[in-house]
Amino acid sequence: AKWVYSFGDGVAEGRSDMKNLLGGKGANLAEMANLGLPVPPGFTITTEVCTYYYKNGRQYPPELKDQVEAALLRVGQITGRSFSSIENPLLVSVRSGARASMPGMMDTVLNLGLNDVTVEALAKSSGDRRFAFDSYRRFITMYSNVVLGIDHDVFEEILDHYKHSKGYVQDTDLDAADWEEIVARYKTRIGEELKAPFPQDPFDQLWGAIGAVFGSWMNQRAITYRRLHSIPESWGTAVNVQAMVFGNMGETSATGVAFTRNPSTGENKLYGEFLINAQGEDVVAGIRTPQEITEEARIAAGSDKPSMETALPEVFLRFKTVAETLERHYRDMQDMEFTVERGRLWMLQTRNGKRTARAALRVAVEMAQAGDITKDEAVLRVDPSSLDQLLHPTIDPKAPRTVLGTGLPASPGAAAGEIVFTSDEAAALKAEGRKVILVRVETSPEDIHGMHAAEGILTTRGGMTSHAAVVARGMGKPCVSGAGAIRVDYAAGTLTAGGKVLNKGDHVTIDGGTGQVLLGLAPMIEPELSGEFTTLMEWADARRRLKVRTNAETPADARTARTFGAEGIGLCRTEHMFFNEDRIVAVREMILADDEAGRKAALAKLLPMQRDDFVELFEIMKGLPVTIRLLDPPLHEFLPHGDEEIAAVAKQIGADPKKLEQRAAQLKEFNPMLGFRGCRLAVVYPEIAEMQARAIFEAAVIAARKTGQPVVPEVMVPLVSTKAELDLVKSHIVEMAKLVEQESGTKLDYHIGTMIELPRAALRAGDIAASAEFFSFGTNDLTQTTFGISRDDAALFLDSYTAKNIFPCDPFVSIDQDGVGELIEIAAERGRKTRPDIKLGICGEHGGDPASVTFCAKTGLDYVSCSPFRVPIARLAAAQAAI
Ligand code: ADP
Ligand code: MG
Ligand code: MG
Repeated sequence: AKWVYSFGDGVAEGRSDMKNLLGGKGANLAEMANLGLPVPPGFTITTEVCTYYYKNGRQYPPELKDQVEAALLRVGQITGRSFSSIENPLLVSVRSGARASMPGMMDTVLNLGLNDVTVEALAKSSGDRRFAFDSYRRFITMYSNVVLGIDHDVFEEILDHYKHSKGYVQDTDLDAADWEEIVARYKTRIGEELKAPFPQDPFDQLWGAIGAVFGSWMNQRAITYRRLHSIPESWGTAVNVQAMVFGNMGETSATGVAFTRNPSTGENKLYGEFLINAQGEDVVAGIRTPQEITEEARIAAGSDKPSMETALPEVFLRFKTVAETLERHYRDMQDMEFTVERGRLWMLQTRNGKRTARAALRVAVEMAQAGDITKDEAVLRVDPSSLDQLLHPTIDPKAPRTVLGTGLPASPGAAAGEIVFTSDEAAALKAEGRKVILVRVETSPEDIHGMHAAEGILTTRGGMTSHAAVVARGMGKPCVSGAGAIRVDYAAGTLTAGGKVLNKGDHVTIDGGTGQVLLGLAPMIEPELSGEFTTLMEWADARRRLKVRTNAETPADARTARTFGAEGIGLCRTEHMFFNEDRIVAVREMILADDEAGRKAALAKLLPMQRDDFVELFEIMKGLPVTIRLLDPPLHEFLPHGDEEIAAVAKQIGADPKKLEQRAAQLKEFNPMLGFRGCRLAVVYPEIAEMQARAIFEAAVIAARKTGQPVVPEVMVPLVSTKAELDLVKSHIVEMAKLVEQESGTKLDYHIGTMIELPRAALRAGDIAASAEFFSFGTNDLTQTTFGISRDDAALFLDSYTAKNIFPCDPFVSIDQDGVGELIEIAAERGRKTRPDIKLGICGEHGGDPASVTFCAKTGLDYVSCSPFRVPIARLAAAQAAI
């Protein structure tokens, strides 16, 4: 079998499309060699060797040794050197390279092949003894650290101590003799640490480094990184062995990194940094301040150090041409690493550059406008999830950060304000025009008003699908959840973190993009939707078939969603309208009422409020479809808890606290999510559904009059499992429609449909469709009921499930296409069979998840509905699914 692929001297055995076999770095090195670009010769040991290695008790394939040695000989022929020669030694770098770039992997080892003898040869052949020993001490440090496992600090300490004793400040102050002395001290120290000398045989060094690369595939950092980025273990990593070129050979040598365009803004200008007389990662290591590549960037940065354009003008021109060639060839922005050895340019790496969402948009749109890529390609180039970054304020990256603690990045964007510990306080302060961050151990439905009032939410418990996380994402509010290192003491009104105690009213900033919690009010950058955003979304909209609606019940959310391009409301959760301060009183009266008459009296108080809400929503949505769901949650969610609260509420509504307590106890359920909720409420208390239906239809009449446009409400019945259930509730709605038609003297146009969120409903969809004009898949509950996993309690074990690869990802974040997805497919098919023009959509968290949107498009649904801030994500994902 072939385990080794060579490259160099204008040819290569690999190509850029062989990333699976050669890893990203190896495939692109081969491609650059094939393009005739200056690449030091070398070879790639394939990812299959890595797989073999782990399948066979950490043994290499038997042919590997010969193939590596043959490849080394070829490198030697091209460079005119020879590995382990004592006269003209070939030195190499050993670099890891997986399919996807992986920061958890082994660091690169440079200058391999140096030992006490070859270093003298290098000194002689280069005519630069200082350079030779500088290279040797770098090699010893890297190799000892990466392969032998000796801490970097050990070497730093020796160097610092030496510099101090000699009165040196910078590394450049050391001459050849100094580095020679450093090398001696390093070796002594390694001897002490390892009880063995530093390996002198270049072949031992080489196999040691190769083994370390393969070994690093299974180190903890790499395993964690793979898990976080869903990279399968079976991919393996490749190893690249490449002839060294030296950027540390004096003033005409250098090393640098560059992008063909600006990776944070996307501006079409060469952008990067370099360092004269330096090697490897000196540029990123921050040892010296790097210099700009272009003169324009130098001037913009106000730097007094010459740019590459003036310091090495010929190399600069050559590099510029190479950069242009690479971008044209790969048809995308490139991220490049290069080294200059005595005035000669060498390319060491290229890849499609990582970029901010803003840059991704600009690069995609500009490349399409220039005709370099098609519009479809541009649409495919932008990661839909990344659009979130563009829609929220972010912390000024230049601002200093005092991090108090870190939690989960539960909902993007940054927010700052004074801390409060209760939702009532949050609402009260907001009413005074103050900005607050709501800090809770965890949140519950009773905190909705506080969450609404707050700029952002911080919880110390709970995961990515905790109440706080889901609701905050829905509201488009920044949220950091599960910040375990932060202590909240409600009684004392304090928050303790990082050795600091903050009181109510003290300032914090949360960064929902990183999960960081910062002390004080950090400076923000407001989001700005660029022209490129609009352009790309136009291209996307022209391509997609799937409609995108929003989940919204407040006018503010509905308006936001419209500006983000929502094509209607797919889910208006009426209960959210009940938590408001004046309404909750009437709701509680309704729940406490002894009989139907009592309930009706309380409901009558709610009617005008609900009607006004709907009128406003209909007006904002200007004739677009609006789906309103009847009351869904268990009633006890509206009742107060604890003696104090009960007493206060009893007084407020003039009820006996005893009775209130009894009723609360009566409504308490062991399993509320499978309890007295959804259409079951309407079955037992039809008057609730009737009041809501009346509010909807009356609002439709009023809004149509006001706007002069017809309003066609969609009334949605939740948690249905049988057709009979739906029929019963439907009859009440239809009755009410007739009544309102009579009263108003207007003909109503409306639709009645149902949520499909129980497995039985999905299976019996053929039946149910006879009574339902539309289905909306409530994928949150459908996931919950299909798996039998309570979404409120899943955090305790879901992490282990994803960590142990039982679930590829959290099924509450991205639809489980195999199981839940099959139910959706079955329901869609059976529903359509009964009613060919049935309208199908999904609502719930999944509506804004790109993979789930793709699934919906594939399944032929008509629309997805998601929270306002995710509307652009869904639009783009829907377009990508259609291309
Ligand atoms: P990473 O994957 O962390 O970027 P690389 O394998 O690209 O690691 O190596 C890091 C740096 O080491 C390169 O950018 C380059 O500066 C230097 N380097 C690697 N191989 C060589 C080489 N053959 N000659 C000179 N420098 C090299
Ligand atoms: Mg690295
Ligand atoms: Mg690199």
